Amino acid sequence: MENTLAGPQQQKLSHERWELILRGVDAAPWDWDLLTGEVYLSPTWWNMLGYVNAELPATSGLMASFFHPEDAAAIDHTFTTALQGGGETWRTECRMRHKQGHYVPVLLQAYIQRNTQGQAIRLSGTNTDQTEREKSEATLRESEARFRALTELSSDWYWEQDEHFRFTVLGGKVYNSTGFTMDQHLGKTRWEIPCLNLGEADWEAHRKILNAHAAFRDLEIRRPDTGTTVHWASVSGSPMFDADGQFCGYHGIGRDISIQKQADEEIHRLAFYDALTGLPNRRLLLEQLKRALHTNARHHRHGALLFIDLDNFKTLNDTLGHDVGDLLLQQVGQRLSDCVREADTVARLGGDEFVLVLEDLESDRHAAALQADSVGKKILANLNEPYDLVGREHHSSPSMGITLFDAHSSSVDDLLKQADLAMYQAKAAGRNTLRFFDVSMQTELESWVAMEFDLRDGLQGGEELVLFFQPTVGAQGQITGAEALVRWLQPTRGLVMPENFIALAESTGLIVPLGRWVMNMACEQLATWAQSPTTAHLSLAVNVSARELREPGFVPGVLKFLQLWKVPPNLLRIELTESVLAHRVDDIVGKMNELKAHGVGFSLDDFGTGYSSLSYLKQLPLDLLKIDRSFVRDVLNDPNDAAIARTIVALGTTLGLSVVAEGVETQAQRDFLASIGCFAYQGFLFGSPVPIEEFGRFLAPRGDAH
Ligand code: C2E
Ligand code: CA
Ligand code: CA
Repeated sequence: MENTLAGPQQQKLSHERWELILRGVDAAPWDWDLLTGEVYLSPTWWNMLGYVNAELPATSGLMASFFHPEDAAAIDHTFTTALQGGGETWRTECRMRHKQGHYVPVLLQAYIQRNTQGQAIRLSGTNTDQTEREKSEATLRESEARFRALTELSSDWYWEQDEHFRFTVLGGKVYNSTGFTMDQHLGKTRWEIPCLNLGEADWEAHRKILNAHAAFRDLEIRRPDTGTTVHWASVSGSPMFDADGQFCGYHGIGRDISIQKQADEEIHRLAFYDALTGLPNRRLLLEQLKRALHTNARHHRHGALLFIDLDNFKTLNDTLGHDVGDLLLQQVGQRLSDCVREADTVARLGGDEFVLVLEDLESDRHAAALQADSVGKKILANLNEPYDLVGREHHSSPSMGITLFDAHSSSVDDLLKQADLAMYQAKAAGRNTLRFFDVSMQTELESWVAMEFDLRDGLQGGEELVLFFQPTVGAQGQITGAEALVRWLQPTRGLVMPENFIALAESTGLIVPLGRWVMNMACEQLATWAQSPTTAHLSLAVNVSARELREPGFVPGVLKFLQLWKVPPNLLRIELTESVLAHRVDDIVGKMNELKAHGVGFSLDDFGTGYSSLSYLKQLPLDLLKIDRSFVRDVLNDPNDAAIARTIVALGTTLGLSVVAEGVETQAQRDFLASIGCFAYQGFLFGSPVPIEEFGRFLAPRGDAH
């Protein structure tokens, strides 16, 4: 009952619903019963073609009569294939004639109803006016064409990338400006294409921007040159997001800036380089020098400034003319560049004045001076070679002033003044020579150079070296061993003490053969002592510089001498200073452990004066600490030194190390040291260093027993 009552009511509702829905959409419904030929065309269907509702009788042939004659065949074709193909839908696009004579683009879509035999019995569908859509499509096509025409004309290009920043679209003259074709771009990211000016770090920074989906502007990229063409591009881009706000890539423009870049370079060249020689000019020099001062300060290295002035250049200019003078300056510039490393700077200040900046010299001032001196000498020799000036052989010489700089150096201007001043001293000294700004350095340098020469000479067979021995004594004054101390007996200089040549030997590397000589002599002495029961227990301490320990061959060298002389390794004690801690500690510790495994002992010399870091101290496999003689000297008068001595003894006890006091000169010093727990000594009180022939007197029984 309910159903029969609700039937017509529901039908009305459904009808109403459809009426309302259809008013809102621009699709015009129609319905065609193929069996009866009955056709229903909705009011909107009529409106689309300019008619009012049912102005013409709705017959089955009516719809077809509106088709554009040119479209009729195509429509017919889709219609029959849809019907005979057994499909459920028919869809076609066509033009239909408007009442006013023009044609309306229409999209025709229909559902095909079939009977149980599969035969089409009814078509229900809609017509949609396509005028607006076609118009907007045409506008889009036009704007694209217009855009393409523009990018073809301009030097800019358009690009797009996907969400992984790989190129997907490129429009315009991209090849001209990058040297890479579109194909070479497509599928690649920007950083996968060869580039000359941006490194991994730059690209990393760029990727940060991209990953943040931020826009970027004027990224300048230099692509590899092709032939003589330089490729510089400037690109800007912004992120793209799809309708859902999802990031979907980047797009942007690129611009050829090769010509600007070349112009910039030219301007830079004119502003910072000397036109005649192509060398940096004063302006660039000052800049470089400022930078060099800064980096050297950071790396604790020395640098040197060399001021060079050609001797008698004015005469050449006056007699042979400026053109010939220019030729000489060019050749001098070239030779100077050839004399230095790439990192160094050669500049022309103007006239016949040149300046060189040497960077990254040794951190030791003397060593740095030696380096600068050797470069200076090389330049002197080089500039003294004859020149070929338009077929005429010419001789020229320079005068040179050198000044060193480091972290504490004053201003760039001061340095130039110093080098200039030194150059005048070189002129005053008769020209064709070099002078250091620092007079004491000059003399010192000269004596060093001479001494290095002598030392090299003296080391050849070792006959100028002499080993002295200073006794070490225990609590009861008994001799426990000795320290080997080297002397240099030079024919003209006499007996040279270590403090006057060890540093030089270290900075020149001569310490390595010297140390080997000492180690051999020490082992030989231990072998001699081993033969007599009165001396067989004596140990021998040998000083080893950090420089020697760093040598790869150090450990095998020591082991070789021990075996050669058949010496018990536990009688050899190597003395190191805290300066070994300044370099790779792990390497040092490794070497010490290796020797220690064979029984060799280690002392830390001059303790308390150096780098002393307790954490390092714990790492080093030591046996003994030596209280430096500077503390022992004033141990009775200076409470500070007494406190230090006390601390060292306590430290030794804590770390399980023996403690020796060196430089003990008086009985009072010895007694004080004993009172704080130090029972091993070395010093003039017990004996000065002596040649081995004299060492025997320390071994005689002491007469003070009674
Ligand atoms: P060092 O290892 O501290 O040697 C102790 C220095 O103190 C020696 O000076 C010694 O003559 C001096 N001396 C000893 N007793 C006294 C004293 O009671 N009072 C005073 N005022 N001085 C005393 P020397 O022989 O001139 O050696 C100086 C430095 O040269 C040594 O200091 C050591 O660092 C180095 N050296 C000596 N021989 C060698 C060597 O064969 N190789 C290496 N690498 N360095 C060496
Ligand atoms: Ca020593
Ligand atoms: Ca010492």
